[in-house]
Amino acid sequence: MKRNIILGLTILVVLIAYLSLKPAFKQESKDEKSAKGEKIMIEKVEKTDKEWKKVLTPMQYRIMRKRGTEIAFSGIYNDHYEKGIYKCAGCGTPLFSSETKYDHGTGWPSFTGPVNENHIDYYDDFSHLMHRTEVRCAVCGAHLGHVFDDGPEPTHKHYCINSASLDFKPAESDYKAQAGSSQKSEEKAVKAAKTEEAIFAAGCFWGVEHKFRQIPGVLNTKVGYTGGHVKNPSYRQVCTDKTGHAEAVKIIFDPSQISYEKLLEYFFGFHDPTQLNRQGFDVGRQYRSTIFYNSEEQKETAEKMIKQLEESGRYSRPIVTEIVPASDFYRAEEYHQRYYEKRIKGNKGKCSPVGCEIK
Ligand SMILES: [Zn+2]
Repeated sequence: MKRNIILGLTILVVLIAYLSLKPAFKQESKDEKSAKGEKIMIEKVEKTDKEWKKVLTPMQYRIMRKRGTEIAFSGIYNDHYEKGIYKCAGCGTPLFSSETKYDHGTGWPSFTGPVNENHIDYYDDFSHLMHRTEVRCAVCGAHLGHVFDDGPEPTHKHYCINSASLDFKPAESDYKAQAGSSQKSEEKAVKAAKTEEAIFAAGCFWGVEHKFRQIPGVLNTKVGYTGGHVKNPSYRQVCTDKTGHAEAVKIIFDPSQISYEKLLEYFFGFHDPTQLNRQGFDVGRQYRSTIFYNSEEQKETAEKMIKQLEESGRYSRPIVTEIVPASDFYRAEEYHQRYYEKRIKGNKGKCSPVGCEIK
């Protein structure tokens, strides 16, 4: 009994001694602090208005220093899905990564979170008779945009940022700067940073886009009109079947995750390629089945696949899918973009190369 008390007391003394000495042994690193979300002191970049005007374009000055907003869908990074880091256009501080970039459909680059909370400052913004949270660069104070709570997983945050406030550095340039290494690994890095485009028409673009959006490796989609002879056609014009356009989906994909060939498999699974100038109840040239290729490689892959499908006996009638070079693609009106997602919130649907069900 006595021995146990002595043992207990000894452990207690050692524990107290350890706890009181602990802070002296271990200083938290910057990374640990930033991981916890604590603000650390950052050296600020300060310039006069005159100096900012010299280094920024007039549009950047208006947006970054006067809290302006660029026109929706006008910014260079809205539809940009290369791998890399988005830095502050004023001071070069890394702000967002392509890893967290997604398409919110509002016309500005959207991210689920910054690369480092310490690089961002938040301010209440009561302009335009509403309360929003303004996002600024913590280093130079540049206005970046706003953050909202309607983002996707994992943070549910939606950082809505002006392209003009950002300066994109592709992954391979960082890679080259760090390594300066062999040709082969450089090529690998360049390849990893590249995305590709595919354009398909397979009937009403609402459903076709929705199906392609379920496929891993598809980074972004937009619906539009292509293959016709009228500039900037409207939905109404296309519906008359007189402009020659097809309802099409432009897909930006990561070829390291999904091949063009695999996308073609989905394309054929998503519709009936034996129906001429119609798809189910949708009748007209605008609903034709067409592959708009961007390269000779895509063309050859498509031709090969149609040949294989013809030979497989999967269809009782001949495949009428057209294979034509990609031409001007006109983005359809906003209400057509991600049509099903906007109307059936949370609907994900189930898709495979042989078909797709939309609830
Ligand atoms: Zn900055």
